[in-house]
Amino acid sequence: MKTNRVVVIGGSAAGPKAASRARRLDENADITIIQKSPDLSMASCGYPYYIGGFFDDRSQLLCSPAGVVRDTNFFWKAKRIVTKVNSEVTSINRADKKVSFRNLLTGEAGELEYDKLIIATGATPRKPLLPGIDLDGVTTLQSMQDADFLRKVRD
Ligand SMILES: Cc1cc2nc3c(=O)[nH]c(=O)nc-3n(C[C@H](O)[C@H](O)[C@H](O)COP(=O)(O)OP(=O)(O)OC[C@H]3O[C@@H](n4cnc5c(N)ncnc54)[C@H](O)[C@@H]3O)c2cc1C
Repeated sequence: MKTNRVVVIGGSAAGPKAASRARRLDENADITIIQKSPDLSMASCGYPYYIGGFFDDRSQLLCSPAGVVRDTNFFWKAKRIVTKVNSEVTSINRADKKVSFRNLLTGEAGELEYDKLIIATGATPRKPLLPGIDLDGVTTLQSMQDADFLRKVRD
């Protein structure tokens, strides 16, 4: 029987949920999450509390309820899901069912074929057109990197 290949773009909240569901539906599927940022399964709702100093351990934003950090190792060992972090999908070829991606740290490019493609890339915050909005230090709060920056400013 042909193995079902599932590719998920985006590894924050929706992507890993969808990938985990795909695993529950098909224990033999090849499932890969391609995530632009370095972290996976981030608890965005906790960012304000981390920035505000309610807790100091950044990894709590990435932990399962059992206290295990949901990283590449976790996804493979617990769910047999391959994760490619720091990797941006640069194009989708729907005719040939392929995605192209690039590792943002090494510049290495790759391609993956899929049978099912899940796009979970979230949204981009809208910045109001105010004078100075593009100055250094003006940021939105969407990613772990934004949270890290604001936490540093606060400290
Ligand atoms: C500060 C804050 C507080 C929140 N509080 C709450 C709350 O209290 N209750 C609640 O219900 N919700 C809350 N939310 C919202 C909730 O976290 C969002 O619903 C959730 O983050 C959306 O998840 P997502 O996976 O759809 O998108 P995102 O979290 O935006 O993730 C999308 C991911 O896709 C990746 N990506 C984008 N483009 C590409 C590409 N081309 N290739 C590879 N990867 C890509 C990005 O790196 C990103 O990590 C909060 C969000 C924030 C930011």
